[in-house]
Amino acid sequence: MNINKNYKNLQENYLFAEVSSRVAGYKAAHPEADVISLGIGDVTKPLAPSVVSALKAASDEMASEKGFRGYGPYEGYGFLIDAVRGYYAERGITLGKDEVFVSDGAKNELGSVIDIFDKDNTVLITDPVYPVYLDSNVMSGRKIIYAAASEANNFLPLPDRKVKSDIIYLCSPNNPTGAVYTKEMLGAWVDYANENDAVILYDAAYEAFVTDKSLPRSIYEIDGARTCAIELCSLSKTAGFTGTRCGYTVFPSALKREGVTLGKMWLRNRSTKFNGVSYIIQRAAEAVFTPAGRRESQADISYYLDNARIIMTALSGLNVKYWGGINAPYIWLKCPGGESSWSFFDRLLNGLQIVGTPGSGFGKCGEGYFRLTAFGTRERVAEACQRLKKL
Ligand code: PLP
Repeated sequence: MNINKNYKNLQENYLFAEVSSRVAGYKAAHPEADVISLGIGDVTKPLAPSVVSALKAASDEMASEKGFRGYGPYEGYGFLIDAVRGYYAERGITLGKDEVFVSDGAKNELGSVIDIFDKDNTVLITDPVYPVYLDSNVMSGRKIIYAAASEANNFLPLPDRKVKSDIIYLCSPNNPTGAVYTKEMLGAWVDYANENDAVILYDAAYEAFVTDKSLPRSIYEIDGARTCAIELCSLSKTAGFTGTRCGYTVFPSALKREGVTLGKMWLRNRSTKFNGVSYIIQRAAEAVFTPAGRRESQADISYYLDNARIIMTALSGLNVKYWGGINAPYIWLKCPGGESSWSFFDRLLNGLQIVGTPGSGFGKCGEGYFRLTAFGTRERVAEACQRLKKL
């Protein structure tokens, strides 16, 4: 028996463990301290009333012989697939019934979808990056190359035609930088992918935070994307489903390689490895797309974006340079005075009792930067901003 030796190439899950350990150390030494976290990427608002009603109604259905459901369709129930199709149709994007796959969230899909690609493919990821893209490809032993996101490109790297990549992860709005690609920029990636037979894995987990109507919320707003892109979406941040677990992934039927439709491979994969999302949760997810569900979840997103505005105003007052925060729940700031990410972390924790996330934990190019999230409650965000004045 041999283990998968690629696991030895994984970096220790250092970032959040180290954050927790430093915070725990500080609290142990200062038991009276009131520490505010602007570090977590988890929501704080409860589920919307229409989602909760749908959860309850579906639970009651399951309690009757007539309404009980066992295994559901691998690709998800038609009612939810149609709700997702309706959501895209509003933006002029027509999706077929067999192009949408209901998932238990984007993380699982982002890590699993690479099953359908050859191990010899070269994977391109941006740096800094949501760590799942990197780690799942390290586990499968693929060659990984990086596209640097920096101040020079506004944290939005574009394709380099001299570099050959087969699988490209793009995340917009971005975690951790909050940067959002324009249609023209995404068009450059789509052209590159079509010219090189590459496939883009487009992580749209934060699409609902895009309020600027000129910015794309789906890669299918770009001509040519249907032949090169898979879009991975999540209700986690859109509707507070981080603990409820539901998302969806789009495989356009025009996306084929070597004469094979990738969506058909994905259905084969899911029917082998996944028995679907529970009926109750899919009914709850359907409620997100009703007019009431949309209003309620949009109100929560506006609340988080208002938090972001409050944080950005405080940073502007301190002459701290930052990005993101307008069409994304993340604010990416430059550590003042050329300080390192971890040194700034310690200064905020020890001096102001505020916790954020060191940018270096998201990749080499994140060194010297720092991520704050807007997912806290208003009171805590306001209190943190008061404290920031002392920075
Ligand atoms: N993609 C990005 C960029 C994320 O930041 C996250 C969660 O933080 C996810 C995907 C995971 O989402 P889900 O909760 O749907 O698995």
